[in-house]
Parts: sequence; C-alpha cells; structure tokens
Amino acid sequence: MILYAAEKGKFIEFADAVQANRGKKCNIYVNITNKCNCSCTFCLRNLKKMQEDHSLWLKQEPDIQTIRSAFAAINKDAVNEVVFCGFGEPTMRLETLLYSLRYVRSIWPEKKTRLNTNGLASLYYKKDTAPLFKGLLDVVSISLNASNAKAYLELTKAPLGLQAYGAMLDFAKECKLYVPEVVMTIVDSIGAEEIQACKKVCSEKNLKLRIRPYEAN
Ligand code: SF4
Repeated sequence: MILYAAEKGKFIEFADAVQANRGKKCNIYVNITNKCNCSCTFCLRNLKKMQEDHSLWLKQEPDIQTIRSAFAAINKDAVNEVVFCGFGEPTMRLETLLYSLRYVRSIWPEKKTRLNTNGLASLYYKKDTAPLFKGLLDVVSISLNASNAKAYLELTKAPLGLQAYGAMLDFAKECKLYVPEVVMTIVDSIGAEEIQACKKVCSEKNLKLRIRPYEAN
C-alpha cells in the first residue's frame, strides 16, 4: 500500500478507511520505500516472514507517476494530515520524497504535512539535508530512541555507527530553522530512568519530546 490509514492498530487502504469512517477526516500515511539505513531491534521489517506478509511491504517501490496517480484518486476532503512515514525510512528515497512533498503542497496547499524519520539523512548523504524541507513540512517527527550514542546504536544497529546519535540530534536542531514544529519521539517501554535521561537531552537542546505508547508494528 502506498497511501493508507491506521485504524485501531491496523493499516488499511486510505479509501477503505474513509468508507469505514463515513467521511470523517483521517490522516493519510504515505509509504514510498521498504529500505532503511537502520536495523532497529524492534522493527518488524527485519523479520523476513513479516516483510512478505505485511500489507505495507512494497513489492515494487512506487515511481513518481504512481505516487501522483495514487494521490489523484483520493478525495481530499477526507484527508486530515499527510504523513510521510514507513514502512521503511522515507529519506532513503530523498528525491522522490521531496518531489512528493512539493506535489502535495501544490495540490493540497491547505493540508498539514509531516515527515516521520530517523533523522539520519544528513549523515547518510554526507550533506546538509534539513534546508531541503523548507516550506514543504509543517512537522518533522524524529525518532530519538535513546538518551546516548551507545544505547542508540544498540537499539538501531545503525551501520553509520556511534556518530549516528549526534548526527540525528544535529539534524533535529537544524530542522528548527526550516520546519515550524520539530518533535523527538521515544516509546514508553524504554524504562523510567531512560525516559528521564531522554527528557534531559531534549531539554538541554531545546527540543520537544513526545513519549508514545509502544506498539509492535
Ligand atoms: S528506523 Fe524505523 S524503519 Fe528503520 S529499522 Fe528503525 S524502526 Fe525500522
């Protein structure tokens, strides 16, 4: 599925969600890739069977024309927020992501846009990527995951190594110059001590933190 909605913990085609909600607006989630530059211990993408069975697993990554056609088939009145997120990491297809965001801005200028990311794009591409999102995003939500580089690496298994944590935080701070709302996220299952430590990291860097309930995806 490229465009989907989340209904009671399940992922369904956006059009089906609209029908189920009898026209009530809901968030539209945009899935453009299975790829990721992390290999988080908690990510079910890493289980082969799960990949094949999961409705979000893309047999083929959609090209720009396919993404445009998918949006064109949607009733925009049913759309609340447009969220670029998993199944994989959206910035793995940076050019397609930017094109899609520009396209959404052009057809639905009034809709709020959000990117859910691991925040590693600048490190991965070895260039400053935060400015590329200027004017395209209302919110960027970045997975903080942990309170320090070692714990982060243990959780994410980022091939980019120990430097990944600092690079993710630098990306977050820089995004504040270009995106109206920057939110760091952790899950509530990491333990009270680690949650406190994450709060301290965010407070020191003047970053907003959201603690969300853990859901096995
Ligand atoms: S960053 Fe997200 S998509 Fe990538 S491995 Fe971690 S949980 Fe999965």
